[in-house]
Amino acid sequence: MSLPPLREVIARHGLKASKALGQNFLLDEQLLDRIAAIPGDLTGQAVLEIGPGPGGLTRALLRAGARVTAIEMDRRCLPALAELGQAFPGRLRVIEGDALALDHDEVMGEPYAVVANLPYNVGTALLVRWLSGERWPPKWTSLTLMFQLEVAQRIVAPAGADAYGRLAVLAQWRSHAKMALKVHRSAFTPPPKVMSAVIHITPAAMPEGVSARTLERVTEAAFGQRRKMLRQSVKGLPGALDALDALGIDPTRRAETLSVEEFVAVARALS
Ligand code: SAM
Repeated sequence: MSLPPLREVIARHGLKASKALGQNFLLDEQLLDRIAAIPGDLTGQAVLEIGPGPGGLTRALLRAGARVTAIEMDRRCLPALAELGQAFPGRLRVIEGDALALDHDEVMGEPYAVVANLPYNVGTALLVRWLSGERWPPKWTSLTLMFQLEVAQRIVAPAGADAYGRLAVLAQWRSHAKMALKVHRSAFTPPPKVMSAVIHITPAAMPEGVSARTLERVTEAAFGQRRKMLRQSVKGLPGALDALDALGIDPTRRAETLSVEEFVAVARALS
């Protein structure tokens, strides 16, 4: 299938990148194909793409055989995406709207892989939402998301690392999260100030006897004062000091030294 170069699509549709919408486009088709390969074989799979923009990642997903639903809030991009849809008949559905305001499970109606290159604030808000759902395993089968490198490091950080915190525990207590690909800032048009990385997350078994909400309360308290000892940071949480004692966790430790499993054990004791 021969498609016009992305630069030509952008020029023809007047898609000057908007700062307000956090637009940094990827135009390197080889890189886009590599990103689309991260979720594994997509032949016939339903994929939710958020923020397709001029459609670089979208075309890579379509080339990989996916059936794509793309949510884009910049209506300037819609004619370019409609053209792409014509090149892959019946395989691309475009929804104009704000992904933060939509129920993705309802939009998709079947299990789906998520793939997105989003502005940092929108990406993080959606990630927290996807990871915090009551329903587990979730309807999404994997998340393949571009973040600025510093945020990607916070998602995959092991206990003890500087970047380890609430986001790492949230991403790891019932999911596998890994750094899939680092992306140089020069790969984007226009280039952002910082480096980026694609992370890949798949759901894992949910530990028994723990609610997402309770775990969140524990990490919120513990990392809210991350430089303090646990006996100080969690003392406002009823039962938390007793739980540390019962679990044999030294209350003079700091939050960043607790493993994900230890956080889960504390939350279980409080549940
Ligand atoms: N995926 C394209 C690429 O890789 O070249 C575009 C990436 S650009 C960083 C982010 C895209 O997300 C933009 O097209 C922007 O309009 C869109 N976007 C930003 N916030 C959004 C939201 N809340 N809902 C849907 N799309 C959004």
